[in-house]
Amino acid sequence: MKIKIVNGVDNLGKRLIAIEKVAKNEVICKLKGKLLDKPTWQTLQVGPNKHLKNRIIDYLNHSCNPNSFVDTEKLVLVANRTIKQLDDITINYLLTECELASPFKCMCGSRKCFKEIKGYKFLNSNKRLNIPYLLKLKSKLQ
Ligand SMILES: [Zn+2]
Repeated sequence: MKIKIVNGVDNLGKRLIAIEKVAKNEVICKLKGKLLDKPTWQTLQVGPNKHLKNRIIDYLNHSCNPNSFVDTEKLVLVANRTIKQLDDITINYLLTECELASPFKCMCGSRKCFKEIKGYKFLNSNKRLNIPYLLKLKSKLQ
C-alpha cells in the first residue's frame, strides 16, 4: 500500500496521504466494501443506488483540483497526476456523487473551486462540461 491514514493538523481530522511517490494513472488501491442503497457522508457512489462504504473512503477528502479519481467500474482509486510523498490523496466528490448526503462549502483554494459541493446534479451545464469523467459516469448515475 502506498497510502496511510494519518491524524490531521488542528481539527481537520484524519486524512489519507501517500507514503511514497505515486505515478500518474497508477492504481493507488482497490476499494472493496459494503454496498448500500442510500448515500451517507462516508460512502462513495459507484452506480445508481449503489453506495460503497469502506474505511479508506472515510478519509478520502474532497478537492476541486484533486490528484486522484475513482474508477467506478473497476472500483479502484487512481492517480490522475504524479503524487508526491506525503501529499494528501484527494478526489472531487462531484465526479461520483449525484447528491451528497452531507453537502458543504468548499474552501480548497483552487482557482476552479466549485464552492458549493452538493452533487453533480446541481451543477449547471457549463460546469458539467469541465468535469472530465462526468460523461462516462453520467449514464450510470442518472
Ligand atoms: Zn473547492
